[in-house]
Amino acid sequence: MTTVATHLECDDCHARYGLLDPVNTCRQCGGLLDTVYDLERLRRQLDVEAVLRRPNTVWRWGELLPLVDDAHLVSLGEGGAPLLACEQAGEAIGLSRLAAKNDAMNPTASFKDRSFTTAVSKARELGVRLGFTYTSGNAGASFAAYMAKARIPSVVLVKDWATREKIAMIRIYGCRTVILSYDSFAEVTRMLEEAVKRLGIYQFVLFINPYRHEGYKSYAYELWAELGRRVPDWVIQPVSNGGGLYGLWKGFHELKALGLVDRLPRLVACQPATSPPIVRAFEAGKAVAEKYGDPRASIAQSIGSDAPIGGGRRILRALADTRGQAVAVTDSAMLEAMALLGRDGLFVEPSSAITVAAAKLLATKGIIAPDDQVVCILTGSGLKQPDVVDRVFPQGLERIHARIEELELLLATTRGEG
Ligand SMILES: *Cc1c(COP(=O)(O)O)cnc(C)c1O
Ligand SMILES: [Zn+2]
Repeated sequence: MTTVATHLECDDCHARYGLLDPVNTCRQCGGLLDTVYDLERLRRQLDVEAVLRRPNTVWRWGELLPLVDDAHLVSLGEGGAPLLACEQAGEAIGLSRLAAKNDAMNPTASFKDRSFTTAVSKARELGVRLGFTYTSGNAGASFAAYMAKARIPSVVLVKDWATREKIAMIRIYGCRTVILSYDSFAEVTRMLEEAVKRLGIYQFVLFINPYRHEGYKSYAYELWAELGRRVPDWVIQPVSNGGGLYGLWKGFHELKALGLVDRLPRLVACQPATSPPIVRAFEAGKAVAEKYGDPRASIAQSIGSDAPIGGGRRILRALADTRGQAVAVTDSAMLEAMALLGRDGLFVEPSSAITVAAAKLLATKGIIAPDDQVVCILTGSGLKQPDVVDRVFPQGLERIHARIEELELLLATTRGEG
């Protein structure tokens, strides 16, 4: 597995950087960097059958990842989560071909692992000696696990409202876990910017780190293989900074450039109704999203963001390019979607159930047709935010005493719904 990556390139001024340069953002203009691959070369030498015989992890398509020397690879077996048909949720919202990618099955129970395996492997290749990140929980757990595995000392700054479960997971990997308080989010952003300028410390924040979203491209390759080497009609993704969505877009583009598909799926970005800067920009037909909303107002804690990095330009471009959609979703619609997914055997956090709520909204509006093939990306496990289940079922738990009469009555009044 030898990469066909050639260099990094700035989105804005097109300055180029080498793959062994520990650069974060463009040194000329501050723009975001993206890895460029020689897809023409890969197209000529590609043996698809051999690729599909490799283990089903993020690294299956290593030619399309940025690692120069495989010796630096840091993996916990991420990726390859199954695509599951969601018959019951589908019936409830009027979609006959609704499916979900259950990324709660990753090593740290969220899709972030797809991105930290690439970012931390690259950090090892670049000789990074220390790292820190800032998180509402899932990014921190994933970062801490991969940094521990790579033996790179790390610090995780946790938002003071992260759940106990998320903080517990971050701590167990042995990194330094610190609660970060702040008066306004602008303070945090300023501190992070100064950390780069004054301390010169390598960054792992999505898109500021040029390699995290590369791992998310694996969604596209996996879906293509799971759907009989075709693309679905729609893929729905929860969006904060939009690394998952941008990775999907880039991955499908690469499949097209390799001649493996002839069209792209339509991509849907969903955000909480209380902080939907990308949805607002999309609806206004703008190329850049402005700061908007209250990131703490929704139960969708993992995607509470009022100001996407880079003004969300990568995401808005991907939506325009695929004739996509952007949807704002209320908390009550997310709770309803959690219950629907539960019927299909899936326990995910509100930030993931939002995708099924978005599917319902688009189906109701007639934008998604009843027999369209729809894939929802379920990004994180419900076990990391269990308290919200009490809001899904506000009626609370029933109780009985250990007596046969009470059990008999309980069973006699239990009926299936069909
Ligand atoms: C981080 C996160 C997201 C959003 O990811 P972006 O790449 O920033 O858009 C969505 N869902 C969950 C569960 C997350 O942890
Ligand atoms: Zn630049």
